[in-house]
Amino acid sequence: MNKEQVIQWLQNFAAEIEQNKEYLTELDAAIGDADHGINMDRGFKKVASQLSSVADKDISTILKTVSMTLISTVGGASGPLYGTFFLRASTAVTGKEELATEDLLKLLQAGLEGVVQRGKAHLGDKTMIDVLLPVVDSFQQSVDNNKNILETMQQVVLVAEQAMKETILMLAKKGRASYLGDRSIGHQDPGATSTYLMLKSLLATLEN
Ligand code: ADP
Ligand code: MG
Ligand code: MG
Repeated sequence: MNKEQVIQWLQNFAAEIEQNKEYLTELDAAIGDADHGINMDRGFKKVASQLSSVADKDISTILKTVSMTLISTVGGASGPLYGTFFLRASTAVTGKEELATEDLLKLLQAGLEGVVQRGKAHLGDKTMIDVLLPVVDSFQQSVDNNKNILETMQQVVLVAEQAMKETILMLAKKGRASYLGDRSIGHQDPGATSTYLMLKSLLATLEN
C-alpha cells in the first residue's frame, strides 16, 4: 500500500461517512444522543480538506495530521477515540513511504491498543472495539497464512461486517448507550458501524 493509496483511503472514508451521515446519526439516536454521523462528518470533512497539503509527507505524518484534526474538531467519545486510533497508527509506521501487509497489521494493532487504553472497553461492551479486535485477529491469521494484502482485507471486511451486526444483540457497557442498560439491546452500535466503514473504504482503495 503506497502513500497515494493511504490518501485515497482517507478520502474514501470521508466520502463513505458523508454518505452514511444520517444512518450513523439514526443509529446513535436509538441508543445515544443522535450525533455520531454529525461528529464523524465534521471531522472527516476537515481531514479531507487537509489531505492535499500533506500528500507529499510520509505515511506516519499523514496519519498524525488526521489524528490532530479529529481530536480538535470532533467532540464526544468518538473524537478522542478515533484521534487516538490514528495517533497510535501513525507511530506504528514511523518514516514509512509504503506499507507492506505486516506494516498494515502493525498499524491496526497499534490503533486498537490505543483505543483500548483510552476507552477501557472490553470485547462485548458494544463499542468500536467489537469490530477492531476481531479485525486485528483476522488480519493476523491472514498474515500467518501468507495471504497478500488484498486477500487479507477482503477477509477482514467480511469479519468486520459480521462483528458490526453482532453488536445488535450486545448490552452496552461503555459510553452513552450504557446508560440505557437492557434497552441498548437490539440496536447496532454506531461506532462499530463507522469502524466497519473505515475498513470497507480501505478495501475499496486496494481493489481500485
Ligand atoms: P458520544 O457518545 O459522546 O455522543 P459519538 O456518538 O460520536 O460520541 O460516538 C459514540 C460511539 O463511541 C459508540 O457507538 C461507541 O462505539 C464508541 N464508544 C463510546 N465509548 C467508548 C469506549 N469507552 N471505548 C470504545 N468505544 C467507545
Ligand atoms: Mg453520540
Ligand atoms: Mg455526543
